[in-house]
Amino acid sequence: MTETVVVLGSGYAGAGAIQRLETELDDSVDLVWVSEHPYHLILHEAHRCIRDPSVRDDITIAVDEIKSPTTTFRNGHVSSVDTDDRALTLADGETLQYDYLLVAVGSQTAFFGIEGLETYALTLKSLDDALEIHESVVEAATTATPTEPARVVVGGAGQTGVQVAGEVAGYRDDHDAPIEIILVEGLDSVLPGEQRSFQRAIQRRLEERDITVQTGEFVEDVDSEQLLLDSGEQVPYDVLIWAGGITGQREMQDITLAKDHESHRLKTTTTFQTDDDRVFAIGDAALVDQPGDEPAPATAQAAWQAADVAGANIARMLRGQPLKEWRFEDKGTVVSVGEDAVATNVLYSPIETFGGVAAKLLKKVIATRWIADVSSLSRAVSAWGKM
Ligand SMILES: Cc1cc2nc3c(=O)[nH]c(=O)nc-3n(C[C@H](O)[C@H](O)[C@H](O)COP(=O)(O)OP(=O)(O)OC[C@H]3O[C@@H](n4cnc5c(N)ncnc54)[C@H](O)[C@@H]3O)c2cc1C
Repeated sequence: MTETVVVLGSGYAGAGAIQRLETELDDSVDLVWVSEHPYHLILHEAHRCIRDPSVRDDITIAVDEIKSPTTTFRNGHVSSVDTDDRALTLADGETLQYDYLLVAVGSQTAFFGIEGLETYALTLKSLDDALEIHESVVEAATTATPTEPARVVVGGAGQTGVQVAGEVAGYRDDHDAPIEIILVEGLDSVLPGEQRSFQRAIQRRLEERDITVQTGEFVEDVDSEQLLLDSGEQVPYDVLIWAGGITGQREMQDITLAKDHESHRLKTTTTFQTDDDRVFAIGDAALVDQPGDEPAPATAQAAWQAADVAGANIARMLRGQPLKEWRFEDKGTVVSVGEDAVATNVLYSPIETFGGVAAKLLKKVIATRWIADVSSLSRAVSAWGKM
């Protein structure tokens, strides 16, 4: 009997897994790829669209450029998964059966129950989100003046928040737009959890770009005009962008699989199996155990490393072979602040943290290498200038 493997999501995790599965499986297995978008989005460069919306063409790759013609692609939004019936339901009502399922639907922004935040803040998890932020910044700047600039507040100074603030500054400088930018972080420094040298280098670049950084202040409450910080300070805004953390996708909340209590992401072992051995999960959607260590991070780097092993493991499962264990290998981090960038912990680099041309080049190389891997070298070359 023909078995069906279904992969959910066309991010790094889904796209990478599809390609690995295609190399592993023969035509006795039906491979079905389901995503709400008929393209792969290079999400870790989506903030570039805030400054220049034309970047969209370089960071979206049609699924047909990624998958082989024998893989079936179904464009649809998954609304629920029933692991007892081994079926998933799409928003249009169609039901798809699976024998093996790989959940790679990414994450959504976490609002931590902060009153008003979800209602008033913009978030960045999709191409449309990036374009909406661009439009909102442009509109706010249009009605502002140099003496009464539009105020853009970014909440959360992790990788997303820092890079968003940097691109808003890029837009401001390109267009000489009257915009004031404030980056608010609840913990004591930008990029919480990272090396001190990295945090300091990023903080310096943010300040050089005229971005006001307020750390050590949690957002308590939000209304249509201002944020209330736990210090009692009120911060008025014209545009509010929230990048304070991630949580599991809403559609996965009713799935009868073990989830992490805090992040609501699916718990998996080092083989990516959930507590249902026919359901695997990777990328931001999963909390992958790393015994003796923190779970694997929610990054593009981790998602695309995991995708390759998860694809191989599903094929091994179908062949009755033992599954491979995966351990995240940190090859370093590069974060942009507008056109500038800072890198840290880069594999084989003798310097812990560095900026300048080397970091900028590395950021471009990471994005274009992924484009070349998942699509083609010519596409990667044409995207080089915009990364
Ligand atoms: C602005 C920004 C900057 C970042 N910078 C970096 C960085 O510099 N380095 C780094 O390593 N990481 C970075 N990240 C994090 C990185 O982008 C994520 O960790 C990565 O995208 C996770 O990959 P994924 O495949 O799990 O999820 P995603 O890339 O989010 O893909 C999820 C896929 O599932 C689809 N999907 C979701 N829900 C459904 C549904 N219900 N039905 C059907 N399809 C669905 C989505 O459309 C998408 O195709 C950044 C993130 C952002 C937002």
